[in-house]
Amino acid sequence: MKLIRHGAPGREKPGLVDADGIARDLSGVIADIHWQIMGPKDLDRLARVKPASLPRVPAGRRLGVPFAGISKFIGIGLNYRDHAAEAGMAVPSEPVVFMKATTCIGGPNDPVELPPGSSKCDWEVELGVVIGRTARRVSEPEALDFVAGYCVVNDLSEREWQFERNGTWDKGKGFDGFGPIGPWLVTKDEIPDPQALTLWLDVNGEPRQRGHTGTMVFGVAELVSYVSRCMTLLPGDVIATGTPPGVGMGMKPAPQFLRAGDVVTLGIAGLGEQRQLIKPPAC
Ligand code: ZN
Repeated sequence: MKLIRHGAPGREKPGLVDADGIARDLSGVIADIHWQIMGPKDLDRLARVKPASLPRVPAGRRLGVPFAGISKFIGIGLNYRDHAAEAGMAVPSEPVVFMKATTCIGGPNDPVELPPGSSKCDWEVELGVVIGRTARRVSEPEALDFVAGYCVVNDLSEREWQFERNGTWDKGKGFDGFGPIGPWLVTKDEIPDPQALTLWLDVNGEPRQRGHTGTMVFGVAELVSYVSRCMTLLPGDVIATGTPPGVGMGMKPAPQFLRAGDVVTLGIAGLGEQRQLIKPPAC
């Protein structure tokens, strides 16, 4: 099942995308798609709804974050061997965990405003793992039982604030708009192996990132288990599982970063695509 939320910011309605790629409205069935309906029973109930019985979402409608009530937006650093190499950093012996402010979360195609004075705004396509049931100190073999599904995340990062302003990484990760999520929450029944997904990102149509989740240092089950031993994971929490190579700070012969007017497009096989116009800071 591919769940969506559609409509103006703050007034999104629930929906789904059917097998023919048609967006349909679920507001006659449920009030919203949020953390309280992420469990297996609720998702099974939704899966029994016949899409053909639902009204179509009007063409051109904005897509919001595909589920509401995200209490934690957790990032994993340097989780692809080839990305750690381009960043000039060692492959971590344990997962690097940081937090993205939940106020940074935006719809998949919303414009992204550069922070004032920003000259090092970078892109990071990532597999987002969405928690479905409260997970506290879960083992790796049972970890995927606590996952509701997957989504595309762009872990936008301001490298000066991330690395040159005396720590922690969180300062460069949480600007408003720096966490586009969506277009869909894809339930895990459609993604039998989260380590078999291709990821891509282009800037102005030029290829930048090409990756595969099979080259993660720590896989999805290991990450869910590990993070659940640091903190209790709640339904609707998102773990952005790290980015493959091809970020701006790793470009040769010189790093390249986002400028106003750039267009970033990105996607993951089976999870849909995002598009963000980069805008100058509003005064
Ligand atoms: Zn990242």
